[in-house]
Amino acid sequence: MSYKEALLDGIRIEQKGKQARYYPRCIFCGTEVMSCNYVPNYNYICSDCKKIKKTILKTEIFRIKTKDESKCDRKRVLKSD
Ligand SMILES: [Zn+2]
Repeated sequence: MSYKEALLDGIRIEQKGKQARYYPRCIFCGTEVMSCNYVPNYNYICSDCKKIKKTILKTEIFRIKTKDESKCDRKRVLKSD
């Protein structure tokens, strides 16, 4: 499943024996983050950015979509209709 999705999203995949490694990019700095599986629309964050995640989010340059936020979006869409 995740293999096909990673291909579609242009994620680099490394095949190591039977196991595949995925390299989606960090949503903040673009560094490849190694992962054993790939989940589309997941917020991948590299270890460096994880340390300063709170600070980055305070700048509001980047926004991470949370479950609450997507609920809000849906409400807004319904209202505008
Ligand atoms: Zn990063």
